[in-house]
Amino acid sequence: MYKFYLRDDKLKYELNELIKMFLKPSEYQVLNPEDPLEPGDFSVSGAGEAADTAAEGDDLPDMVFRMSPDVTEKNEAKRRLYDWLAQRTGERPDWGTLTGVRPAKLAGDYLNRGADFEDLRRILSETYYLSQEKIDLVSEVCRVQRETVGPAPERSAGVYIGIPFCPTRCLYCSFTSNQAPPEKIGGYLEALHHEISYTADLMKRRDMRPESIYIGGGTPTTLSPQQLSELLDHVNRAFDMSGVREFTVEAGRPDTITRDKLLAIRDSGAQRISINPQTMKGSTLELIGRSHSPEQIVEAFSLAKDVGIPIINADLITGLPGEDTEDFRRTLDTIIGLSPENITVHTLAVKRASKLIELDADYHYNQGPVVREMLAVSREMMDRHGYRPYYMYRQKHMAGNFENVGYARPGTESIYNVRIMDENQSIVALGAGGISKMYFGRENRLERIPNVSNYEIYMERIEEMLERKEKGFI
Ligand code: SF4
Repeated sequence: MYKFYLRDDKLKYELNELIKMFLKPSEYQVLNPEDPLEPGDFSVSGAGEAADTAAEGDDLPDMVFRMSPDVTEKNEAKRRLYDWLAQRTGERPDWGTLTGVRPAKLAGDYLNRGADFEDLRRILSETYYLSQEKIDLVSEVCRVQRETVGPAPERSAGVYIGIPFCPTRCLYCSFTSNQAPPEKIGGYLEALHHEISYTADLMKRRDMRPESIYIGGGTPTTLSPQQLSELLDHVNRAFDMSGVREFTVEAGRPDTITRDKLLAIRDSGAQRISINPQTMKGSTLELIGRSHSPEQIVEAFSLAKDVGIPIINADLITGLPGEDTEDFRRTLDTIIGLSPENITVHTLAVKRASKLIELDADYHYNQGPVVREMLAVSREMMDRHGYRPYYMYRQKHMAGNFENVGYARPGTESIYNVRIMDENQSIVALGAGGISKMYFGRENRLERIPNVSNYEIYMERIEEMLERKEKGFI
């Protein structure tokens, strides 16, 4: 059992996150420096002084780390801990000491403050210990974003509208997703239409203009063609669409996609949909609780192309249960053959709210090596087929602590995805589980204005959701 004596200050959380990149929770304990050292602790350093001076090769089971009191600078403290852990475990996690979820935002901040790409590479290596591969990835993402999306216009916002319904619940799902009868869905849409009208008017009163609109979920295409068409019409009528550069509808589950729904999407002026195969292996689809076949995925793509949707994104997941690198390579090969404009390669995140974590609490630790191989395959294949990485983020509990990467053919990058990761624009989020974020540019910070996440409570308390926006929007 490893022991870490860490000061109880704001650094403690980040240091604990760093330890998790090397060790499973069952392998270590975090204690306060005020806690008395136990007799066994001294067997490591052989003395009562700070245990972080313990020599390489000491007995692993009794390893003890105590942060020296003179280390107060965050990055130095993290490097000390990283070096100590790397020496003992033999691991050097690719994301170095970075525990936050937005590496590209961190890199972008350095560039905005005047660093050039050469400086950036040096900083990522020396200050944060990123591997060369991750430095290449972050640098390329920043370069593509600068070339394509550019800075957010003043007073602009991304609008997110959530439809929290899906035909079935996926094994790894941690989102607001419900399987509801039609009358409940109808009631929800009534409340949502009300929120859309009110918020669109509020945005006009506060001089906020939508730059992008994203209808997500759940699965918006769970709605009937008529419900979808009415929703999209309502969005078009309610918001000031004059500054909207991008309109997306997530059509996630292929089994919910029909020609009528795709026509409703196209006729509303939306240019983008996302069809999310996750994998092309039938037995995995069944195992993870998706009620569709690989053939339905192919049909959905061909229908969308036939109807004339200009930009299609395909979401894939690395690290799914029972899959090896060859399964993933075959999936990617088939998807590239369907020629979507965007492909997003996710790393499976096993969150507390998912069914998967009940089956295997250490799943994300054990999947690290295979996910590393799959991500390497995706980088190579994406590059070979003319896709460039343009946004990326990390989440907690991701297999191997890796990342999600959005790839796009040049000129088809999604503004909404870039802005939401950059956190330099307000997000107006409508529907159950939506969390609006007001951006205060001068202070470079966001303030959250959440809606409740349960859709039935959202319907009951819709007036309160509107009041929160009235007070929170500036
Ligand atoms: S499609 Fe997405 S939101 Fe719906 S159950 Fe699956 S993971 Fe959850």
